[in-house]
Amino acid sequence: RKHVYRFGAGAADGGAGMRNLLGGKGANLAEMASLGLPVPPGFTVTTDVCTAYFANDHQFPAGLKEEVEKALNFIGEAVGARFGDNQNPLLVSVRSGARVSMPGMMDTVLNLGLNDETVEGLARRSDDRRFAFDSYRRFIQMYSDVVLGLDHHLFEQALEQYKNLNAMELDTELSAEDWAQLVERYKQIVQDKLGKPFPQDIHEQLWGAIGAVFESWHTARAVTYRRLHNIPEDWGTAVNVQAMVFGNTGDRSATGVAFTRNPSTGENALYGEFLVNAQGEDVVAGIRTPQYISEAARQAAGDDRPSLETVMPEAFAELRDICLKLERNYRDMQDIEFTIQDGKLWMLQTRAGKRTTKAALKIATDLTAEGLITKEEGLLRIDPEQLDQLLHPMLDPNAKKEVLTTGLPASPGAATGELVFTPDEAETLRNLGKSVILARIETSPEDIHGMHAAAGILTARGGMTSHAAVVARGMGRPCVSGAKDLSIDYEGHKMTAGGRTLHRGDVITIDGSTGEVIAGEVPTLQPELGADFQQLMDHADEVRRMKVRANAETPRDAKQAREFGAEGIGLCRTEHMFFEGERTTAMREMIVADDESGRRVALAKILPMQRQDFLELFEIMAGLPLTIRLLDPPLHEFLPHEDSDIRETAQRLGVDEAKLRTRLAQLKEFNPMLGHRGCRLAISYPEIPEMQARAIFEAATEAGQRTGAPVVPEVMVPLVGLAGEFNEIKARIDATAEEVARETGVKLEYQVGTMIEIPRAALRAKEIAKSAEFFSFGTNDLTQMTYGLSRDDSGSFLGDYMSRGIITNDPFVTLDADGVGELVQIASERGRATRTDLKLGICGEHGGDPASIAFCESVGLDYVSCSPYRVPVARLAAAQAAL
Ligand code: ADP
Ligand code: MG
Ligand code: MG
Repeated sequence: RKHVYRFGAGAADGGAGMRNLLGGKGANLAEMASLGLPVPPGFTVTTDVCTAYFANDHQFPAGLKEEVEKALNFIGEAVGARFGDNQNPLLVSVRSGARVSMPGMMDTVLNLGLNDETVEGLARRSDDRRFAFDSYRRFIQMYSDVVLGLDHHLFEQALEQYKNLNAMELDTELSAEDWAQLVERYKQIVQDKLGKPFPQDIHEQLWGAIGAVFESWHTARAVTYRRLHNIPEDWGTAVNVQAMVFGNTGDRSATGVAFTRNPSTGENALYGEFLVNAQGEDVVAGIRTPQYISEAARQAAGDDRPSLETVMPEAFAELRDICLKLERNYRDMQDIEFTIQDGKLWMLQTRAGKRTTKAALKIATDLTAEGLITKEEGLLRIDPEQLDQLLHPMLDPNAKKEVLTTGLPASPGAATGELVFTPDEAETLRNLGKSVILARIETSPEDIHGMHAAAGILTARGGMTSHAAVVARGMGRPCVSGAKDLSIDYEGHKMTAGGRTLHRGDVITIDGSTGEVIAGEVPTLQPELGADFQQLMDHADEVRRMKVRANAETPRDAKQAREFGAEGIGLCRTEHMFFEGERTTAMREMIVADDESGRRVALAKILPMQRQDFLELFEIMAGLPLTIRLLDPPLHEFLPHEDSDIRETAQRLGVDEAKLRTRLAQLKEFNPMLGHRGCRLAISYPEIPEMQARAIFEAATEAGQRTGAPVVPEVMVPLVGLAGEFNEIKARIDATAEEVARETGVKLEYQVGTMIEIPRAALRAKEIAKSAEFFSFGTNDLTQMTYGLSRDDSGSFLGDYMSRGIITNDPFVTLDADGVGELVQIASERGRATRTDLKLGICGEHGGDPASIAFCESVGLDYVSCSPYRVPVARLAAAQAAL
């Protein structure tokens, strides 16, 4: 099998479809070359070689050297130069490229092939000695950093010293001789630190760089990134070797990055930044502040430095054409890197651009409208999880706020938290449950874990495409970058802005949509969901099969759920209605009552309150189905535990304190979650489900009369394990329904069903479905009981399971399709074998998790139910699952 794939001069061995073998960068370079775009020629060493390299004790496979030699000749011929030629040297970049883009994770070496002799050749050929030595010093620094493991600060310090000594401020003030002298110093640094000279042998340089790219797959920051993004360790990276083009040859040269559409708003306009007379990563590194590419963007930002459109109109026009071509070819917004050498444009990279959720929505709907993608493809373009970002609050525009300074709106959304200055602090405080804002002068890949832990990110330097901005957008974290007036003092744990000093721990707010940095906390508002969101949801609704309901018991949640498009309530937890004021007292009175008649007295007080609650819910959900679960938790959850509370409760209930304490002791259980709860309470105290059923039916009747659109109440019996349990309770509910119908003269439509949350119930579904009219999978308890794993205690050790690879997902977050899922499947099949029209739904936390929703589709459930804020996520996920 071939180890090396070539690209350039209008052709390529590979293409965009080969990213597994060539990595993303290599596959797309090949694709661009085949499209006839101006790509410097080069070749890709495959990911297979990387895998073989690690499998074979860090040795390159046989035959690789020869293939690389030949490919180097191919590049040399294409550009008319030769690798190592003293008169006319070919220089190359050595670039990493994994299957999926890992921004800034892997290392790149530019200008490789320079040594003391070839640098003279380059100087003569270009007739520009300054450029040649500028390239050489860059090369020594990068190579020493990436390949030899010497900290780049060593070289930056030497440069600073040199400038100070010679009273210079800017790099542009250094002459050819200055750079040549620095090159000598740099080589001396390498000699001093490593005890051997900087490699003059260009082949040693090349193989050193290729090996280093492979090795960088295992750097700590790369490992962290893969862990955070679930990227398998064994993929490996490809290496791209490519002829250098130079953005640092003078004022007609430049380097830049661009998006074919605006990555923040999605607007269909070329958006990007560039630096004149610069090379490689200068733009991203935030060393100089870049200029805008398009004139429109420059004007909108009020920047007074000229745009690329003005200074290099031909290159700009070509860039714009290429962007159109790329979009048509890839049918998606692209993120590109380019260099202009003496007015000539060269493409160095393209990939699908990271974007905010807002932009993702606009781009997907625009591309659909432009006919570049289908409606279904448009739906698949949005990660349901991403929608979450949109549904969250924004700063209240009318709120008073003390704006300290304004930076670039690098990633939208507002965040408030305690100020920290190091990624480690961010992580520590986050683990304590605190919200933090991470403020850095600029960020680098070493900061990723802290950025992940932070609610928001603030930087003093860097543009819209800086590391901080790109990573924050990818993570969905609000970010303000390049807040120039901000000065951060790491040592003093403080920062100053707008004449104020803030210390570590002070609360600040950032608004990533406007760039504002604000002292203290600012009230927030619900976001406006725009036309693109609506369009996407409409498409999702056309495509999906499963219904989406919400878990809600308060009128507020129910209203929110309807606004987000819920088609009913899948779980109304009645006990949540008992945890406040007067109700708690009535509930406690019932629990401590000596006998049934005592309980009935207390229940009679609860009935009207409960009826009122349901009435409101039924009105909000007019015409939709609504599943109400009967009382579920162990009774002791309603009782007082603290001494003072016990005393007070005894007084309020008018019972003897000692008696109350006895009752409390009686109710104590060793394992309450497996104790006297759920339908077991209804078996012992049938007057409870009777009261609840009455409240439900009376309210449903009244709401139906008021709204003219009656709900269909679905009364749900929790924690059933035996058909006998269910049958007994159902008989009471039916009897109550008849009574209410007789009293009101209205015959109501309703259903009685059960939650499937005990494994036995799943297995006995055939029998239970004889009388149950619906099943709702309570996957929280079902997971807990299938695994024998307490949801409330698993946090302390599940991490060990995940880090050892014993499980890949927390089963309480994503449904365990293999085990718990099999029970769901069994119950569905057996239930439907008895009752073909048995309604099936899910109401655990999993109902809002896209992977679990896909599973629900595969078993043919009728609906999923989730928290109100997850409803749009579930609508999209259900659509994707149906495609
Ligand atoms: P990353 O994956 O970190 O973006 P790249 O391999 O894309 O790393 O390299 C970083 C930058 O180096 C590129 O954006 C480009 O500006 C510059 N670069 C890479 N290869 C070349 C080349 N052959 N000629 C000129 N510049 C290059
Ligand atoms: Mg890099
Ligand atoms: Mg790149």
